[in-house]
Amino acid sequence: MILSHKIRLVPTQAQEDYFRRACGTARFTYNWALAAWGEAYVTGGKPSGRSLKRTFNAVRRDQFPWTYDVHRDCTAGAFDNLQNAFQHFFRRVKTGEKPGYPKFKKKGLAKDSFGIANDQFSLNGKKIRIPKLGWVKMREVLRFTGKIMSAVVSRTADKWFVAIAVDTEVTPQPPKTKGAIGVDLGISALATMSDGRKVQHSRKRKKLERQLRRLQKAASRKQKGSASRRKAVGKLARKHLELTNLRADVLHKTTTELVQDYETIVIEDLNVRGMVKNHHLARAISRQSWAEFRRQLDYKALMHGRDLVVADRFYPSTKTCSRCGAVKQVALSERVYKCTDCGLVIDRDFNAAINLSKLPLGKGNVKPVETEALTGRSSASETAVYEAGTGLG
Ligand SMILES: [Zn+2]
Repeated sequence: MILSHKIRLVPTQAQEDYFRRACGTARFTYNWALAAWGEAYVTGGKPSGRSLKRTFNAVRRDQFPWTYDVHRDCTAGAFDNLQNAFQHFFRRVKTGEKPGYPKFKKKGLAKDSFGIANDQFSLNGKKIRIPKLGWVKMREVLRFTGKIMSAVVSRTADKWFVAIAVDTEVTPQPPKTKGAIGVDLGISALATMSDGRKVQHSRKRKKLERQLRRLQKAASRKQKGSASRRKAVGKLARKHLELTNLRADVLHKTTTELVQDYETIVIEDLNVRGMVKNHHLARAISRQSWAEFRRQLDYKALMHGRDLVVADRFYPSTKTCSRCGAVKQVALSERVYKCTDCGLVIDRDFNAAINLSKLPLGKGNVKPVETEALTGRSSASETAVYEAGTGLG
């Protein structure tokens, strides 16, 4: 099973300059290849990442000599990435999903990154040796052991990270007696478990959300294209990263406890992919949390040999009485479930969590989690990213 550990880098100024040039070269090459792909396709050719790389290399010394300033993996990786992007595009076309043709990477907007092949870098404690650059400091050591597959250096806001993909051995644990647990994800409490625990939003998070909202407003008031706007957007991105890290830390603790304690974990299918696009900030952030929660559970369940059951979107976990099974309509504002049949009065989220925990025993619409993305493919972009310890502190 391939897992990727994302570690904060601490580059010197000169190293950061190199990172920026490497990202620029990777972006340029990707865009060049995407344009060439389109042209080849129009003229009836059958382009591939490999064929385009040959064409590129044939004209490279004459036309783009500056691309030799950075390591060759920056350009080579761009062709692999484009090949992957098209493979996913064709798969989506085939399955009838919204295809999303690969897009050009715009400077400043695209997430800057470049890849390094596994035989081109080495690790030594809290240091990574990057070709053409030498040793760069990392904030922590690589957590996984196994065969090292690849590394991707990327920038978020003004911080640099390296995501190292490792092919780890899965060691399923002996089953424990604790059976199934239901987890209800919500907005007022982050998660409510059927064993009675609730994970609340931390105070620090609420504070960060307030600051984020303020920064968002401030940035939107600045004139487009102005220096002050750029500065405000940078501030906003840094605050966003701080919130993301805080959230991931809280979720890691919860998801680890769940897979350690229970054989089966039942959650709702929140159809997260489509739901993140929401303009209401608090709601959007909650949905990002749910997506992250699901992502962590997916790979941790696999790692610990646990079953993750995802209830069908139409399973009435909220509407059903967890004691007598009666079903009724429940308004979003009703925080307490009151059963008119048996008289049960219970916290709404707790009630939902209990119903979820019963799902594996009953006949409900259970569907197993798709784990293909984690086990079947080797591309680093497809693996679960274990984002531990990327705090800003
Ligand atoms: Zn009842």
